[in-house]
Amino acid sequence: MTEASSRFQVALTFDAEHPDRAHEAGVTERILDGLGAASVPAAFFLQGRWVESQPAVTRRIADDGHLLGNHSHHHARMTLLSKAGLRTDVRKAERAIVEATGVDPRPWFRCPFGAGWTSRRVLDGLAAAGYRDVHWDVDSKDWAGYSARGLERRVVRMTLEAGDGAIVLMHGWPPPTAIAVPGIVRRLRDAGATFVRLDELPAFASTAA
Ligand SMILES: [Zn+2]
Repeated sequence: MTEASSRFQVALTFDAEHPDRAHEAGVTERILDGLGAASVPAAFFLQGRWVESQPAVTRRIADDGHLLGNHSHHHARMTLLSKAGLRTDVRKAERAIVEATGVDPRPWFRCPFGAGWTSRRVLDGLAAAGYRDVHWDVDSKDWAGYSARGLERRVVRMTLEAGDGAIVLMHGWPPPTAIAVPGIVRRLRDAGATFVRLDELPAFASTAA
């Protein structure tokens, strides 16, 4: 491979939400520390209820220059909601995000659990509310109990396989994620990666408001 062709773009994304299990505090802040130290911009999809409980961390995410997206309010499967229910839930999260940061998260949305990302009904409901769903190419499964080293190896391997424009899904609360981020960034940069915000990827550039 020539040097030019070995260069590729990667967009890291983090879903910030209340996990359905006990978790330690401060992980999101440590992820932000790691991203900041490496000057890596990312996207954070914010659950409204999480934002309401973590307004200061939410503000820091915005202040650090990351892209804010909407990850619903109650983290229900969008496929289970009525048209009106989907709209109410999405707007509720939007209001929480705007209240905490002054930033309008539109048009960026990520369906909880990815449920609905291929559903015309869900996508039409999101579009009517001003959103488009952002899925992923690399599912880190960082919640699944990997060690930090194991997670680092997994994400690096899968991102190299996904290639240019890879969108990587991680979460804001698993402790191994905060430990693994600096190594993931270092190894992928060594392999030719440039980290960009989601809205800088050519596939999404026309979407940005
Ligand atoms: Zn989620």
